[in-house]
Amino acid sequence: MVSRVIPVDPFDLVIFGGTGDLARRKILPGLYRRYQAGQMPEEARIIAAARSDHDDAEFRDIARAAIEEFIPEGKRDAASLDEFIERLSYVAIDATGDDGWAPLSEKMREGMIRAFYFSVAPSLFGPIAERLHQHGIAGPDSRIVVEKPFGRDLASARKLNQTLAQHFDETQIYRIDHYLGKETVQNLMAVRFGNVLFEPLWNAQYVDHIQITVAETVGVDGRGAYYDKSGAMRDMVQNHLMQLLCLIAMEPPSRFDPDAVRDEKLKVIRALEPVEPYQIVRGQYEAGGGQPSYRDHAENPRSLTESFVAMKINVSNWRWAGTPFYLRTGKRLKARTSEIAVVFKDAPHSIFGAEAGRHRNILTIRLQPNEGMMLGVTIKEPGPGGMRLVDVPLDMTFADALGPEAEDVPDAYERLIMDVIRGNQTLFMRGDEVEAAWAWTDPIIQAWEERDDAPKPYDPGTSGPEDAQMLMHREGRRWREIRD
Ligand code: NAD
Repeated sequence: MVSRVIPVDPFDLVIFGGTGDLARRKILPGLYRRYQAGQMPEEARIIAAARSDHDDAEFRDIARAAIEEFIPEGKRDAASLDEFIERLSYVAIDATGDDGWAPLSEKMREGMIRAFYFSVAPSLFGPIAERLHQHGIAGPDSRIVVEKPFGRDLASARKLNQTLAQHFDETQIYRIDHYLGKETVQNLMAVRFGNVLFEPLWNAQYVDHIQITVAETVGVDGRGAYYDKSGAMRDMVQNHLMQLLCLIAMEPPSRFDPDAVRDEKLKVIRALEPVEPYQIVRGQYEAGGGQPSYRDHAENPRSLTESFVAMKINVSNWRWAGTPFYLRTGKRLKARTSEIAVVFKDAPHSIFGAEAGRHRNILTIRLQPNEGMMLGVTIKEPGPGGMRLVDVPLDMTFADALGPEAEDVPDAYERLIMDVIRGNQTLFMRGDEVEAAWAWTDPIIQAWEERDDAPKPYDPGTSGPEDAQMLMHREGRRWREIRD
């Protein structure tokens, strides 16, 4: 099976913050991979705009070094890398001043799609949007891409939306949540809405509960000062985990188009019940394994910021009433894994008797590592000796089923940038969605702040604080093991 690569139309892509960490680790390597795959047309140009003084040649060296660092040797070739690098140029620009805007304007070509990637601190989103407009660089067909974090509460997100809306229409704004760009996340929609098998069972009558886990082994390390103002709730739950919850919980959209999909996601967020304090466990990692504690990392000995959070969420609508969603995410945990598990209810009656044991169907959607889906089904254990039941995985991992080309699928950033050029907003968050997610998150964080709530300590390399286990145990359920 050969994958089809459809080239996008020619474009000028400006990366504000083109020398930064995100540009070097994700954006530039991702663009190179799309060039290599034949998806980026010859006429496409990429212009990095950042604060430091560089000429084109120096920036090209930076970009080449980044691609060589972040794309393994066997996956790049000198000829295509040289060709790609030729498409890059650089403008030194001051996002909050006047320098660099006229040279940028001169570089832009007529008749090309114009996209502007704001890979800079959120405080610069407004000033850049304003100057793009002032200097006539962005027009009604231009697109802007904005990175996370989109605000730190409802008020700041609303303000940011208003600022961007002064210069750009909602149809021009692409708010990135890279979780939505993952192949498996889209596959989840294909499995749900492309088959007749799952949708009839996708409700409280047949689903016992859903677990969403995003576990990291790393700590906050060099990002401690930034993270300490944020915490797991703002950094992960309000955006990434919330988006995953929406895709699992939403009603079938009438079409796979941006507003139809985002309307359904918004309805889910609005149907989330407020979370009571006893339904949430916050944690903070201790020192261990030769690594400092969270507080040392954050350089704040009294920090009350959570590096872990687990919670039970009820979605108050006809489809999900009575079927809880359990979410957890944290740093310095046992393994690096992101997974959604849809745990179906027991069969209503076991004809095989108590000795056959308890068996449940679980659909596991794995985002990393080893993206794929697995459906646990119960069958007879082979051989003589009566009717013993065993659970076996029905592996829907696309790399196995679809052949080696499927392993080379674009990563989340590659796919999302190409979607920007294509003008497809389906996998980007709409302004009202982000605001609704903050409206749900704010009271939870405010309650912690008002009570000076202290997170529970947990040892690194574990599954988080013991209380997180209790969150499920007391309801006769258990978390799936966190493992690679
Ligand atoms: P960074 O600090 O590494 O890079 C910042 C870039 O902005 C540099 O190129 C710098 O020259 C430029 N810049 C700073 N001030 C400027 C000014 N006044 N005028 C023009 N350019 C200016 O930051 P980063 O880690 O690349 O992050 C960029 C954005 O992406 C942030 O919003 C961040 O929250 C978001 N983000 C980053 C990551 C990541 O892994 N690094 C992940 C998700 C989201």
